[in-house]
Amino acid sequence: MARSKPNILVTGTPGVGKTTFCEALAGSTQLQHLEVSKMVREKRLYKEWDDELDCSIFDEEMVYDALEPLLEAGGCLIDFHSSAFLDDGLLDLVVVLRADTSTLYDRLERRHYPESKVKQNVEAEIFQTCLDEAREAFEETELAIWELPHDTEEHMQEALERVQEFAQSYTPG
Ligand code: ADP
Ligand code: MN
Ligand code: MN
Repeated sequence: MARSKPNILVTGTPGVGKTTFCEALAGSTQLQHLEVSKMVREKRLYKEWDDELDCSIFDEEMVYDALEPLLEAGGCLIDFHSSAFLDDGLLDLVVVLRADTSTLYDRLERRHYPESKVKQNVEAEIFQTCLDEAREAFEETELAIWELPHDTEEHMQEALERVQEFAQSYTPG
């Protein structure tokens, strides 16, 4: 069934600014912000724990099942670092936010992440892990993937304008 409002996935390495961006976008559109990492925590959508990084490893099927009814209704901003477990039919646009190494490093240090976690995330950004995951997951589909810089307030304003325009001109079908 056609959605009257689009579903937009906002992905990228932790620290690129997904939550900041989605909060601003939800404030200026009728889209609902789904902070998936928070859902994973609150609804315990995991079965495994990463001892080295001391964090949960989300369960793809559990997260999918939690998101599916929301996405079927449409109008969702999905804020998550991972994308491959999602179905292209549930999405209308994928936005991959990017940050320079030094920007990301500073942000993650400020977040008081342990050094190993800072390093792992900075490396993931250098190797564009999230971008490649989205590209590979959706390469056979018509889904648009926008890679947008997100180092500065100006970058965020530009990205907001582009995605707002997409949401406004969205037509079901
Ligand atoms: P994520 O949800 O991707 O982990 P956050 O939205 O929590 O990232 O942002 C991480 C930090 O970076 C926050 O302190 C936020 O204020 C800052 N930040 C996010 N986007 C920008 C931006 N475009 N310009 C400057 N600072 C930003
Ligand atoms: Mn976040
Ligand atoms: Mn589609």
